[in-house]
Amino acid sequence: MGRLDGKVALVTGGAAGIGAACVERLAEACARVAIVDLHDGPGRQLAARLGERARYFHADVAVEAEVAAAIAGAVDAFGRLDVLVNNAGIAGANKPTHELTEAEWDRVQAVNVKGVFFCTKHAIAPLRAAGGGSIINLSSIYGLVGAPDLPPYHASKGAVRLMSKTDALLYAADRIRVNSIHPGFIWTPMVEQHLASLGGDLAQHRREVGALHPLSHLGEPDDIAWGVVYLASDESKFVTGSELVIDGGYSCR
Ligand code: NAP
Repeated sequence: MGRLDGKVALVTGGAAGIGAACVERLAEACARVAIVDLHDGPGRQLAARLGERARYFHADVAVEAEVAAAIAGAVDAFGRLDVLVNNAGIAGANKPTHELTEAEWDRVQAVNVKGVFFCTKHAIAPLRAAGGGSIINLSSIYGLVGAPDLPPYHASKGAVRLMSKTDALLYAADRIRVNSIHPGFIWTPMVEQHLASLGGDLAQHRREVGALHPLSHLGEPDDIAWGVVYLASDESKFVTGSELVIDGGYSCR
């Protein structure tokens, strides 16, 4: 018997990076998993590799009708929903605040904040119908402490941290737990693109960013996925409104 036997999870941004690791580890723990993403090729391939335990659904989390259709499709395919992992996110424009356009600001909030709102909104009815469940929101160390880059991203991840606490209070009576996870730098396509955009030697950037963490290296997607498995499972049944920091010590200082 697996840690997530009988549970159905939906992971947004599940085709790549941290989301794909979450899909794999959740399925390995015996959950059935709906993968939601824009990246159809990798998303379908991952679902095909996992067989009957996974299904892929195309949706942009910033578009409410697409979110509603994906969640309805997952409930239709698997019969219930127990776990929502709000993982889809973008880094957005890396400029100082005074150089940002309104459109650059709005796009980050649309995916990282409104996307969490839409997915949570449409997941509540099936989670209630299942008798409760777990919502896991991917915030960041950038939702806990500042750094001199990515202003819209910091704002969005700070918002996700407090949305998690408010929803934890709102839905505790429904036995729906809501927690945020705060990763340090994890080696994924998002971080690789961010460091590549700085120009120069990518390997050197990777070493420098790794050195910001007291454990002196970047994390890997599974470091976060294991936290997601814990928060999805009944092992965390008394955990709600909490911040699970998985950051190699980055935010200790
Ligand atoms: P990633 O490598 O860019 O993967 C994210 C996945 O989400 C991609 O498949 C992406 O598709 C998809 N996605 C993006 N926008 C979407 C949308 N509007 N609707 C549906 N899917 C969408 O990112 P990651 O590094 O794994 O990050 C996952 C989450 O962890 C994010 O919320 C991120 O902010 C958070 N996080 C990451 C780190 C880190 O160091 N990696 C640290 C702290 C927090 P496209 O590639 O087509 O955009």
